[in-house]
Order: sequence, then C-alpha cells, then structure tokens
Amino acid sequence: MIAIIGAGPAGLMAAQILSEAGYAPTVFDAMPSAARKFLIAGRGGLNLTHAEDFELFCSRYYEAQPLMQPALDNFSPSDMRSWAESLGYETFVGSSGKVYPLDKKAAPLLRTWIHKLKANGTQFKMKHRWVSWSKDVWQFETSDGLKEYSFDAVILALGGASWPHLGSNGAWTETLKDKGLSIASLKPANMGFNVTYSDIFKDKFSGSPLKNVELSFTDIRGKLHSKLGELLVSQDGVEGSLIYTHSKFLREQLEQKSPFTLYLDLFPHRSESQLKEQLSAKRGKQSMSAFWKRLGLDGVKASLLREVLRKDSLTDSELVAKTLKKFPLKLDSHRPLEEAISTAGGLEFENLDEHLMLKDFPSVFCVGEMLDWEAPTGGYLLTGVMGQGKQAAQGLLKLLQGEK
Ligand SMILES: Cc1cc2nc3c(=O)[nH]c(=O)nc-3n(C[C@H](O)[C@H](O)[C@H](O)COP(=O)(O)OP(=O)(O)OC[C@H]3O[C@@H](n4cnc5c(N)ncnc54)[C@H](O)[C@@H]3O)c2cc1C
Repeated sequence: MIAIIGAGPAGLMAAQILSEAGYAPTVFDAMPSAARKFLIAGRGGLNLTHAEDFELFCSRYYEAQPLMQPALDNFSPSDMRSWAESLGYETFVGSSGKVYPLDKKAAPLLRTWIHKLKANGTQFKMKHRWVSWSKDVWQFETSDGLKEYSFDAVILALGGASWPHLGSNGAWTETLKDKGLSIASLKPANMGFNVTYSDIFKDKFSGSPLKNVELSFTDIRGKLHSKLGELLVSQDGVEGSLIYTHSKFLREQLEQKSPFTLYLDLFPHRSESQLKEQLSAKRGKQSMSAFWKRLGLDGVKASLLREVLRKDSLTDSELVAKTLKKFPLKLDSHRPLEEAISTAGGLEFENLDEHLMLKDFPSVFCVGEMLDWEAPTGGYLLTGVMGQGKQAAQGLLKLLQGEK
C-alpha cells in the first residue's frame, strides 16, 4: 500500500500524480474531511498563485529559493492555472497580479478535485491521526482505537502548526525528532504584531483599515524596506497584507531585539513641507478636529497621532507634519503561531534528497508546509506546497519503477 498522510493540498497533489500513473494511494487524515485549511483559504478569495514574472515569483521564497526551485520549475504558476482549468475552473488575474478561480471559491474546486481523485482510485481514510512509526509499523489513533498499518512507501504531508483546529498541529515534530531528523523550530509567518494602544483607541478603531500608507524599516541585514499599501488595526495591534508581506523581516528584528519600531508615512502623496504649510493655515474658530478633517486628517489617522503626541503639541504644525510623514509604530511582539496564516521552520531540507525523500528512511517522503521554508501571502504558499506534492510523487514513481 502507498500511503499519503495529510489530505491538504500537498498530499492531494501527490495523490493525483500517483493515481494518474495507475497507483491507487490511500490518503489518511486526522480530520473528518480533507483540506480544511485550503477551504478556509477560499473564505477571503482562493489565491492560487501569482502572475508576476517567474524569476520574481521564485525570489518570494527568500533563502529557501534554491531548495524550492525544483518544485516551482515542475509546477509553475501557469501549471497551477492549467491544473485548475483541467478541473473545470477557469482562473483570472486580479489587479495586484494575484490569480483566483473565477468565483474565487475553494469549496467547488476541492469537491471536484476529490471526486476526480476517487474516480482514479485514490482512497481516503479520515479520522486517522498518525501517532507513531516504528520500523515498518505505522500507528494511527482512530475512533475505534489504535490501528496499525504497513506501507510500501509513505508521503508525509502534515502541514505546519497554524490554525491547529483545522488539523495541522505540528505534533509530528516530536515524532520525527525522535527519528534523529533535524527540525527548525516552528514559527509564525504571515501574522499580525502586538502594539500597545490606549483603550479608547482600541475600542474605537480595532478592525479599521489604514489605507494608502507607506511602511518602512531596515531589516537585520541592513536592507531598507519601503512599500505602499493597506494594513488593518486589530484589537492587539496590526495585521493585513502590508504587514504580512514583511512579517519574516519584522519577526527577525524582534528576535534580535524587542520592541521594534517601524515607520508609517500616513500621507505618502504629500510632502512634509506641504503638510506643514496646510497645518499652519489659519483655522479661525474651527475646532482642531474640524480643521484637520478638512485636510483629510481624521478617523484612525488623526487618532493615531493623538496616541503618540501630547495634547499641547497638536498645534505644532512642524511636529505634526513630521510625525505624519514618519509615524513610529512600536511593535512589542508578534502574534502567536496558532493565529498565523502559515508556518516558518519545519523539517530541514538537509534530511531530504532531490526527490524530497528522507535520506535515512528510503521510501518515506516529506512535502508541503511541514518543510523548512516560508513565503508571503499571494498564492506562493499553495503553489509551493502543491509543487512539492508533485515533486515527491514523481520521485516515488521513479522508485517504484526502479529508476531511482
Ligand atoms: C486563513 C488562511 C488563508 C489562506 N489563504 C491562502 C491563499 O489564499 N493562498 C495561498 O497560497 N495560501 C493560503 N493559505 C495557506 C495554505 O492554505 C497552506 O499553506 C496550505 O494549506 C498548506 O498545505 P499542506 O498540504 O502543506 O498542509 P495543510 O493544508 O495544513 O494540510 C495538512 C493535513 O495534514 C493533516 N494532519 C496533520 N497532522 C496529522 C497527523 N498526525 N495524522 C493525520 N493527519 C494529519 C491535517 O489534518 C491536514 O489536513 C491560507 C492559510 C490560512 C490559515
């Protein structure tokens, strides 16, 4: 029997390659139904991949790029689009270059995918949580107690440890460590950060977007990051696309020293001197708030200013202009792994050969978010994990056909 443990997108892609080649793999998963994280990904619009230049696309995997390259060459963004189309789901490129199915949904696509897998001979054993592995015996916890299986080959696709209630809880790290495999500690990726706000600010503005701002900071390697975009004020701090894109570098800064201050230009399309001039105009009998509002300074931006400046400084147009152009946002820490969109760290690539097979345990492969790489949101995660599912399944085919 060929087993795939983990019915997320990485494991399902491996099942597709194997079942299309005439092998009938059995997919085990701890949860009652498959690919729960993939389904949740569809909630905000299933971002399958990205349409930017391929070289730029590959650079999004940071220092893991060379290790991810075989998966990306073998399952490129255009392969991802053809794959969705082969299931009957046309895709489109959004304004930011992100690629979605036409209806942006995950559920119909997943239903069709699983239907096709079953039609091709893939079997599913749900509510089977893999707990241990000794020699040839693989043990699973099930509602009928512990069950033992022996396999000819195994693909582990167990995911990271974010959103653990969806099935991936990172428990596999202990089992694989016991086998002498090296594992980089699991950390949050694409997560929010904690900022200390006043209670008044939190009550009024948590959940508010902060649109059209420019974020800037220098990373631990001395590289300046500066990007226009949108972030979200959360109950505990900040989150949203502009923050997630930089979360790896901000996390690294906090690991070196916390708190860490990044800067926001709250009016990137006006210069400091323009702002100063506008703020210095006569306001007559208008209240400060009404005067600011006329300049476009109101809501969350005005209240942020009140978070860092004393009341008697708010009439100092030079200081206010300076602060609006370089607003210090002090990050105390990052949000926990359970809340993050994805996981950094994991099983190190040095344990694996070029087909993602464990060097010390031939015929056991590992793929997807459980491996030690990270990428920002934007479709890079799904492309990476499905590419690795394909890479390992093709390696296993070679092994089964005696070519390896
Ligand atoms: C809210 C949210 C939105 C997202 N949106 C996007 C997006 O739009 N685009 C994008 O590219 N990515 C997105 N992602 C990330 C993407 O969903 C993941 O990177 C991807 O699902 C990882 O695939 P995987 O197969 O490696 O792991 P998973 O999807 O985590 O699947 C692993 C499977 O293994 C099972 N498992 C774990 N341990 C065991 C065990 N011991 N025994 C048996 N089974 C086990 C789990 O139940 C799970 O089904 C999003 C993530 C979240 C949380």
